[in-house]
Order: sequence, then C-alpha cells, then structure tokens
Amino acid sequence: MRDQYGREIRYLRLSVTELCNLRCRYCMPETGVHKKRYEEMLTEDEMIAAVEAAAALGVTKLRITGGEPLVKRNIVSICARAARVPGIEELCLTTNGVRLPELAGTLREAGVSRVNLSLDTLDAAKYAHITRVGALADALAGLHAALEAGFARVKINTVLIGGFNDDEIEALSRLTLRYPVDVRFIELMPMVDGGAFDEAAFIPCDTVLARLPQATPVAPDGGVARLYRLPGAQGNIGLISPVSDHFCAACNRVRLTADGRLKPCLHAAGEIPLKGCTPEEMRERMRAAIWQKPACHAALSAREHSLAGRAMHQIGG
Ligand code: SAM
Ligand code: SF4
Repeated sequence: MRDQYGREIRYLRLSVTELCNLRCRYCMPETGVHKKRYEEMLTEDEMIAAVEAAAALGVTKLRITGGEPLVKRNIVSICARAARVPGIEELCLTTNGVRLPELAGTLREAGVSRVNLSLDTLDAAKYAHITRVGALADALAGLHAALEAGFARVKINTVLIGGFNDDEIEALSRLTLRYPVDVRFIELMPMVDGGAFDEAAFIPCDTVLARLPQATPVAPDGGVARLYRLPGAQGNIGLISPVSDHFCAACNRVRLTADGRLKPCLHAAGEIPLKGCTPEEMRERMRAAIWQKPACHAALSAREHSLAGRAMHQIGG
C-alpha cells in the first residue's frame, strides 16, 4: 500500500532476535544485551502472522535480521514458513556470517533467496577490535559457505568508519573481482547506544569514489545504494548514504522489532505495538502505521544522533 506521501511500501525488515554472537562497537554495548523475558518477544506464530499481514498490505520483500538471526534457535523454521507466505516474492537475510558454514545450505533449502553478510575489514586484528569478540576467519568461512550453497548476488555490507577501514576501501572493493559479490559501503549512523566514535569516524560514501577512479556508474537495481563497477568485476560497489544524503523520499520499508514494535521510520521514535494482537488487529495497526510513516527523519551527523530510541541490534539495521 501507499503511505500518505505516495510512497509504495513493499519491504518489511523483521528482526527475529536482539541477541548476537558478536558485539560490534557501532551497534551494541560492550556488556551485550539485557535479555528480555520470553513473554515480551514475538513468538514464531506472531512473526508469521505479521508477515502475512504485511503481505496482505502489499509487502513483497522480506528481510530477516536481528541481532544475529542465525543465533535464533528456530531460524530455519521461521524462514521456511515466511518463504511460503503468499505474496512474499523475495526472502532475504542479513547476517554476520559466523554460523553460515553450518546453516547456509539448510537456509537455502528453506527458501531464503538472498544473503547479505556484514564484513568491515579484511584484517584479523581489526575484525577482532570492531566486533570485540569475533574472528575474521569465521566471517570469511561464512562468505564461502554462502557462495558454495549457491546463493546468487551475495552482498557484503561494510560500515565505513574514518580512521578504521577507510584505508581498506580498495582491498574490500577488490572482493568484487575475486568473487561474484557486491560490496556495499554504508555510512556509520550515529545511534543512541552505538559506542563512542569521534567526528573523524563519520565520513561520507563519496570518499569511496575518490579512491576508486576506475569505477564506472551502473544503473540502480531498485535498492537504496548508488552502484558502480570496477573493470572486469563480477559484482558491483554500492554506496549507501543515510547520513550525507538520506533517501527518505524513496523509502519503501517498515521494520518490525523482535519485541513486536512496528517502526515506520528507522530514525524516529514512533513505534506501534503488535505483540498480542490478533491477525486482524495486526493488519489494521500496520495499515495505520504505514499511512502515517513520517515524510523524513531528522538530520544525522556526528553530533546529531538518531532519534530511534534503540540501539541498532534492537532494530535490525
Ligand atoms: N547481525 C547481522 C549483521 O551484522 O549483519 C544483522 C543485524 S545488523 C544490526 C544489520 C546491519 O546493520 C549490519 O550490516 C550492520 O553493519 C549495520 N549496522 C549496525 N549498526 C550500524 C551503525 N551504527 N551504522 C551503520 N550501520 C550499522
Ligand atoms: Fe551483532 Fe550485527 Fe550488531 Fe554486529 S552489527 S553486533 S553482528 S547485530
């Protein structure tokens, strides 16, 4: 359905858990997550009912996210059921990749059509630093597992952080030469509880273009990334600029948190509770929330933090 500003909402991001096996500094507090009570979280049946309600309102693309979706015990069942919801044409998953070696094949059989994998650096010491507890080898094994399982158009998401990985722009981009993957650089978003980053960390995506003079523009694929390609590459370079050049006017998505809050806008405080609703109530609340989706979020910068009211692991990116 369309919102009051005429934007067609076709995309739901469903966070299935707030928990994670990593502790990325821009996403999660060092202490990890205060685990909420089971009764506060959406059940699997409620998640599927929400997907059905969204599909009835015109959503065709579903992304499963988290926290880390692959630490969710019943993730395969959630994916298998979501993939069968009439109207859902594309079931995507965003993961840190650590558990993909065990799960990639099963997820593909369950109906997951595409996988995005988060990877901010190719340096083992820097990976351990940014994730606080992770091992680069695990993430790379996850990437290989996704490719071996036959996932097409695998996308690597890299949060661009000045003074941390801007010296790896070329090396990360070269992954598109070696593998059939897109590498997408995402501007660091200043979240409420996103860890301490100084102003120098917030650099615009155009920094990437300055480092890749040989990259040429590619037609957009319907997503929010501006696309480029290196000569001879198997995949694209994507630039996602929520801070320097927000894409609110073209936003086609809503989000549902693992504790059942529908967020019409990532960077606004507004949340509509769906936990405990009947399927009909869910659909009507969703309809009203989509209609009232804010036109645009407030400015973001190193000093102007997101008004989301939650850390990223509690929303899903
Ligand atoms: N755990 C999964 C993962 O890391 O891919 C899925 C959840 S994670 C919250 C989804 C995406 O949000 C990841 O690509 C992550 O890099 C991105 N993200 C988290 N915090 C961010 C921030 N402050 N700015 C920009 N991107 C962020
Ligand atoms: Fe976990 Fe993903 Fe957040 Fe990293 S970005 S802490 S992997 S939820």
